[in-house]
Amino acid sequence: MRRVAIIGGGIAGLSAAFHLERARRDGVHLDWTLFEKSERVGGVIKTETDSGFVLEAGPDSFLTAKPEGAQFCCDLGIGDQLTYSNDATRKTYVLLRGRLVEIPPGLEFMVPTRVWPIASSPLFSFRTKLRMVGELFTSASHHDQDESVGDFVRRHFGQEMMERVAEPLLAGVYGGNADEMSLRAVLPRFAEMERNSGSLVRATLKSRASRRNTGSLAQPLFTSLKAGMQQMVDAATASLPPERIRLRACVSTVQPCNDDWQVMTGDQTGRFQAVLLALPSVIAAGLLRRFHPALIEGLRQIPYSSSAAVVLGYADARLPAGHGFLAPRTEDRKMMACTFVHRKFSDRAPEGAALLRCFFSSSRFPDLLNQSDDELLKIARSELKQILGLAADPCLRRVFRWESALPQYGVGHLERVAEMERMLAEIPGVQIIGNSFHGVGIPDCIKSGKQAADVFLRTL
Ligand SMILES: Cc1cc2nc3c(=O)[nH]c(=O)nc-3n(C[C@H](O)[C@H](O)[C@H](O)COP(=O)(O)OP(=O)(O)OC[C@H]3O[C@@H](n4cnc5c(N)ncnc54)[C@H](O)[C@@H]3O)c2cc1C
Repeated sequence: MRRVAIIGGGIAGLSAAFHLERARRDGVHLDWTLFEKSERVGGVIKTETDSGFVLEAGPDSFLTAKPEGAQFCCDLGIGDQLTYSNDATRKTYVLLRGRLVEIPPGLEFMVPTRVWPIASSPLFSFRTKLRMVGELFTSASHHDQDESVGDFVRRHFGQEMMERVAEPLLAGVYGGNADEMSLRAVLPRFAEMERNSGSLVRATLKSRASRRNTGSLAQPLFTSLKAGMQQMVDAATASLPPERIRLRACVSTVQPCNDDWQVMTGDQTGRFQAVLLALPSVIAAGLLRRFHPALIEGLRQIPYSSSAAVVLGYADARLPAGHGFLAPRTEDRKMMACTFVHRKFSDRAPEGAALLRCFFSSSRFPDLLNQSDDELLKIARSELKQILGLAADPCLRRVFRWESALPQYGVGHLERVAEMERMLAEIPGVQIIGNSFHGVGIPDCIKSGKQAADVFLRTL
């Protein structure tokens, strides 16, 4: 009987456990144990309910375009619980010199696809609009090296597009700085568009036309679950035998022992033939500290940012139409983004009430984690008052913090990961899963857990 230790009970660890358990029930001779240091599984996925409000402490949804998220929910038997973003009412604003300006319709991420709404938008200067027209004539190029997202966007559309649209949109996901983010790791589809077509505008228009010709329907941008993201965690937990999940079990060391791996938690030691490290890479490096210095150094080099969500419920709030706003770095606010949650998804707040979620990241606000909850609430409310004129007293207020939970994929990330994966291939039985290597989104993490289970099953 081969034994697998899964270390970390976030969505990646749960996905690995689910797929291993399925194989075990199908008769494969294996045994697995999941070690989670806290008193609950789910990692950064956590939903609370209060007075009819659904509060997401971490992620509020996942990208519909990445099929692994919805597929996992279907595998868990909760496919009928999927819910989608209300895209018909989607409108996002960017804060520009203290005022909210709508991101014009027809801008697909940063690529203009419609003339009039963009030509008439106050979000861009005449010069940037000319740049967009000029971009159509860019010819295919072969960049051998990775580059920063910031440089890439500037090359195509100029500085305004970078600081007013691309960076704020990405900062809301990664909580990072576009001038440090790797194009190939963060926006691989755009790197490929440039390789194949040169112009991002031409490539986007072409792919739209082919979608139209094949009759593919536009799908909602985001998917969530009716009772919140926690529903995915609860369904995954319910599908697993509880005796295999060890809560409050902080793993301190993983070390080789003859042909096995020794996993230590407190004063207990277990022996396993495979170890799936489903936790931030810097923690994985600490666990492997007595082993393979080059790999450990690589794992330590991936920087992480911390984040906080300040969630405010209002019995009544006058807000502009749409789903929220982004605050570019140049606006000098502490808040990076604010989502009008009750509009983005249905059934997140009582009838007539509003639910706002303000996102803060240590990459913009280095002192973030030293602020008390009261200080963060004060900052959020003061910025909402200045930006939205929202002075009402919230009927509900919560602060959620996530320390070093989001990896920052710096320029050259994929090359460094490939090198670490080469080293890992020489260490039989150890795999790194979760958000540190190949995508921070929930579907990416689910995929990494499934792939690791498949790799292990192939060794049997
Ligand atoms: C605020 C926030 C908002 C986000 N929003 C979205 C979104 O809307 N959509 C989206 O797709 N993605 C979003 N993400 C990203 C996504 O949620 C995460 O990348 C993903 O959930 C990470 O899953 P994971 O299993 O890799 O790690 P984690 O969820 O970090 O889980 C790691 C687990 O390991 C445990 N652990 C740590 N050390 C040890 C140890 N020594 N021994 C045992 N256990 C240990 C931890 O307690 C934790 O439970 C967001 C992330 C954050 C922080």
